[in-house]
Amino acid sequence: AWQAVAGPRTVLLAAPRSFCAGVERAIEIVECALAQRKGPVYVRKQIVHNAHVVADLRERGAIFVDELDAVPDGATVVFSAHGVSPAVRAEAERRAMTVIDATCPLVTKVHAEARRFAARGDTVVLIGHAGHEEVEGTVGEAPDRTVLVPEVSDVDSLEVEDPSRVSYLTQTTLAVDETTEVVEALKKRFPQLRGPASDDICYATTNRQEALKAIADEADLVLVVGSLNSSNSRRLVELSLRRGTRAHLIDDVGGLSPDWLAGVRVVGLTAGASAPHHLVDQVIDTLSALGPTTVEERETTRETVHFGLPRGVSRPS
Ligand code: SF4
Repeated sequence: AWQAVAGPRTVLLAAPRSFCAGVERAIEIVECALAQRKGPVYVRKQIVHNAHVVADLRERGAIFVDELDAVPDGATVVFSAHGVSPAVRAEAERRAMTVIDATCPLVTKVHAEARRFAARGDTVVLIGHAGHEEVEGTVGEAPDRTVLVPEVSDVDSLEVEDPSRVSYLTQTTLAVDETTEVVEALKKRFPQLRGPASDDICYATTNRQEALKAIADEADLVLVVGSLNSSNSRRLVELSLRRGTRAHLIDDVGGLSPDWLAGVRVVGLTAGASAPHHLVDQVIDTLSALGPTTVEERETTRETVHFGLPRGVSRPS
């Protein structure tokens, strides 16, 4: 089947792609914890939403659990990049755990906004996807004052205590364009709507969407490297489909199907913020093995964001 889809082909490589600063920091935090460990290192939830990252850290000794009830009292536990609700923090404290917090600082910012908005008596409208760990954590800051709005169609039926006291926040990994629509609809219903000082959709999510926009129209097929539970990766697939270019999400090159390549001369390639760079390289290698392949990187912006490690966590010397 692979022979039938031999090149020549052009690969348009989106940049930025792959790891963001929050993901790099979260992985490094687990690595440091493993290097310094005196006992087992538990990680609550997937540290970042990527199957390869999790498998690699598991192999190196990290113990991934879904909830704190699987962690013994007094043990070391890492909180994932997506953040946790205050209730989870309280349980860890009550049970004398040593907590290492890998919550992305940009998620922590949204938590602080949720507390501030709720404290001034507002209903907090959180634009985001139900069931996502980041959303669960943010809602947990003010569960009684927060309502979740996944889509623009949910705005009409929204019920709030006082329409003059409504604020909104967003999950960090949403589709930029669709979120703007939801905010506009909210403003129409609640003219006094207040929001965060700057957008909650993070720089990495925004940049990866912009970079894909710059190549998607020229491509016959778009491949997004990322895991199924990675919100920002799924938004990239949707973005491409909305622009009329076929797109698939693959965990790694093993997910690539030869059928997708029939008649395809230009492949657009990107990766979500939690997907390691080398997985993209492997896709390029496989495509290159099929015939003459020109790789053209299109960089829309250069990222320089870097987050320091939390207090008490240091790189092994
Ligand atoms: Fe932080 Fe954005 Fe990366 Fe999430 S995608 S870890 S919010 S930088």
